[in-house]
Amino acid sequence: MLKINNIEVAYLNVIRVLHGVSLGVPDGQIVTLLGANGAGKTTTLKAISGLLHVEEGEVTDGNIEWNGERIDKKNAEYIGRLGIVQALEGRRVFEHLTAEENLLVGAFHRKDRSEVKNDLEMVYNYFSRLRNLRNNTAGYLSGGEQQMVVIGRAMMARPKLMMLDEPSLGLAPLMVDEIYSIIRRFNEDQKTSVLLVEQNVRIALSIAHYGYVMENGRVVLDGTADFLKNNEDVKEFYMGLS
Ligand code: ATP
Repeated sequence: MLKINNIEVAYLNVIRVLHGVSLGVPDGQIVTLLGANGAGKTTTLKAISGLLHVEEGEVTDGNIEWNGERIDKKNAEYIGRLGIVQALEGRRVFEHLTAEENLLVGAFHRKDRSEVKNDLEMVYNYFSRLRNLRNNTAGYLSGGEQQMVVIGRAMMARPKLMMLDEPSLGLAPLMVDEIYSIIRRFNEDQKTSVLLVEQNVRIALSIAHYGYVMENGRVVLDGTADFLKNNEDVKEFYMGLS
């Protein structure tokens, strides 16, 4: 289980962007982090995966625990080896590598080559489209296919917690549905926990068990997906309904 206890995060020592954020991701659950641009969702993911220092950010107060172990002072490599894997925002594929080479990058630290082969097969079972595209150059795949590669690459690391940053961004609705149904299936089959950052509240709540709404670096509301779907504020401000 991941637990974030009251963390504060600042960039460059001065720009304070998280002001006491607490949240939890129980084993096997899909938890979504919702909120407008700039609310602090991506910063929260970076704090978990140990990537803040890349932008001279740091957790200045509070702590992050993974199965009881404090990880907020650990580096990204160590955190990755614990099974916490982030698929980065913006569909970052290695453009000049093939789709399959991109997937294999996700398993680079693993020595069990035959297991890696099995996992490639597993990824192709989830993303059957990628099986046919395996030898294509990733840079020429469509946006949705690249997103599949990014998520498939995270799956190849055998994550215990998979963190996804806006998997629906810029994709056509049918592609979003396809990708989301695969995320749900992966969670159900593998019991992998998922922490999902989304601006598309409707789709995120369609698969999540629990959600947190962030505003200006704080959690302002949290509850089960059903509770949030029926909450008037969520409907009005985030789903465009009143
Ligand atoms: P988005 O959906 O736009 O990515 P977000 O909720 O993920 O939004 P963050 O990217 O975490 O929000 O940004 C939170 C705040 O931190 C914003 O005000 C942003 O300008 C600021 N911020 C993010 N990265 C940095 C950085 N490297 N240096 C300084 N400020 C930053």
